Amino acid sequence: MKFGILKEYDDQRVAIVPEIVPKLKQLGLEILVETQAGATALFSDKLYQEHASVVSRQEVLSQSDMLISIHPLSDADLQQVRKGVLLISQFAPFASPGVAETLHGKGFQAFSLDMIPRTTLAQSMDVLSSMAGIAGYKAVLEAARLLPRYFPMMITAAGTIRPAKVLILGAGVAGLQAIATARRLGAQVEAFDTRRAAKEEVESLGAKFVEVEGAVEDTAAGGYAVAQSDEFLARQRAEVQARAAKADVIITTAQVRGTKAPILLPKETVSHMKPGSVVVDLAASTGGNCELTQDNAVIQAHQVTIIGNSYLANLMPQDASVMYANNVLNFIKTFVKEGKLNLDMNNEIIRGAMITPIPETQNA
Ligand code: NAD
Repeated sequence: MKFGILKEYDDQRVAIVPEIVPKLKQLGLEILVETQAGATALFSDKLYQEHASVVSRQEVLSQSDMLISIHPLSDADLQQVRKGVLLISQFAPFASPGVAETLHGKGFQAFSLDMIPRTTLAQSMDVLSSMAGIAGYKAVLEAARLLPRYFPMMITAAGTIRPAKVLILGAGVAGLQAIATARRLGAQVEAFDTRRAAKEEVESLGAKFVEVEGAVEDTAAGGYAVAQSDEFLARQRAEVQARAAKADVIITTAQVRGTKAPILLPKETVSHMKPGSVVVDLAASTGGNCELTQDNAVIQAHQVTIIGNSYLANLMPQDASVMYANNVLNFIKTFVKEGKLNLDMNNEIIRGAMITPIPETQNA
């Protein structure tokens, strides 16, 4: 089976790094890599060449039996792909309803990496977690870069500087990494989440957990948060406003799968923030947690800098690609045996990630 690795269009990362290629070969796969696929992540064609054929995009698209990409392929690309090919990408079926039917209708099979269940067993394959961790780390570094103040407390001959106050809204994977990073830089950190399980994790990182009574949780949501009542969100916004006025940095990560991100920082709250403060909105691509956020833009409002970027992992392309590639390898190991597909539908990881129907002939 030929396994194709493509260059991303609007992303510096690459889905498979050179050190993973021989491991894919050991699974019986023959590897095709698009020329310059890893260039923006600092992986040269030469590094791939030892175990893979480096060829044109057109050759990768037309000859592969399995194709990996970080972002879904364009319609123009798909026109060059043969029917029956297995596409592996992040198709975000919750955000793009109908994507599975469209791919199936065109004769493709598709694994959506963002649909891998968030279980302990699947942790090593979880691209959402590895990329969210990087985004949380980078969010703090971006905020520190733009903040006109120090993060740590400084006692110097030129005076004493108080530590920065950082408020984190949403303590999932990105939020927890943001807390850890901000604490390492010496900031005072507070965090909110609607999941009670987050409290212990926040406190174990040395931050204060802010509780708002009455959050709804649903164990059937697979660990994800669920939408909250208008009344709860209003109380939460009031609590956030009181803390936002004292914060130097706010990092928002709150998402509810399948729906628009909740607004936790309305315009009015931003108007109460200190001049020079920074908001990093990691929920920008799903509507943003800040009412003023513009997706993929850095703006100023009320003398506050608001960074709307959900894809900060792209700013650290080398390690992001290494982690992504490890996740993909671990996933592929579950269903490729001796160069052939072996799709066991009793395996909850395979069942969760496969968004198109599986042909009988490929079942294990
Ligand atoms: P996410 O990106 O979907 O959301 C980020 C955070 O925002 C979550 O913690 C969520 O609870 C929170 N949130 C939603 N609405 C909010 C609101 N109104 N106010 C405050 N916070 C709000 O989350 P994620 O980081 O992808 O994690 C989702 C879940 O999966 C978490 O429970 C996480 O612990 C779990 N997880 C498990 C594994 C594993 O076991 N393999 C791996 C990764 C994540």
